[in-house]
Amino acid sequence: MSQRKTYIFGNWKLHKKFNEISLFFKHFNYLIKKDKRINKNPNLIHGFAPSHLGILPAINFAKGKTNILAQDVGCNNIGAFTGQVAFWQLNEFKINYAIVGHSETRKYLGNSDENVNKTVKVLLNNNIIPVICIGESLETYKSKQTNAFLAQQIKTIFKDISLDLIQKCIIAYEPLWAIGSGKTPTLDEIQQIARFIRQSFKFFDDKQSNIDENVHILYGGSANVKNASDLMSLNDIDGLLVGGASLDPTAFVSILKQSKAYKNFNGNK
Ligand code: PEP
Repeated sequence: MSQRKTYIFGNWKLHKKFNEISLFFKHFNYLIKKDKRINKNPNLIHGFAPSHLGILPAINFAKGKTNILAQDVGCNNIGAFTGQVAFWQLNEFKINYAIVGHSETRKYLGNSDENVNKTVKVLLNNNIIPVICIGESLETYKSKQTNAFLAQQIKTIFKDISLDLIQKCIIAYEPLWAIGSGKTPTLDEIQQIARFIRQSFKFFDDKQSNIDENVHILYGGSANVKNASDLMSLNDIDGLLVGGASLDPTAFVSILKQSKAYKNFNGNK
């Protein structure tokens, strides 16, 4: 039986100045300081993705188990790639996770599933776990084409990636119309889509090694303090990618506390 963990990551997008990052962590570190269910819990992994220039201050201010992620990374190595950030720079700062294929990088920077595929390969070969965003537009949702759309995204993004590496990936299902809108699909829909995403991995699994059950699937799109518990109670959802609600330390800690991994932690074991 698969032992999936819970991942809860905050995407700060283009928010937080230097002094705001410092204040955030003062408050956040204080809130979680004595909480073993967060600090000693091997099944609950949390972190924040500041914009690139916020990464270093965030690394300095974050304590203990708090991960700092990159919001995006290029698929190129060293050289003439103006404006890009490379995997080895993340390695230098011991960054273990990077968000890849977020819809805002697709919308504003021309990112594509083909490019995400290249980036995922580079990251996996360099010990960085990609948090890969997929999700349908409102039009696709309304025309009930979500599954077909996601299946195609998965096929392209995971092309020519070995089974053992696919299992290391974290998928963030983020319906584009739910991001920052205050709207979400129903819980039933999210569960069914997460199950569908999981089963889509069988396509790659010619050895029938149950990779579909091992892959981690997060939900993202207007997750907040009010809906976090319900979202994380779904069988096929292994955590959340949180935008707006991750900007506030109290809200983010409340979300962490609503996870099954937090509630079920037995520190004496
Ligand atoms: C996101 O940016 O990935 C996101 C899910 O944002 P929000 O939670 O604000 O909808």
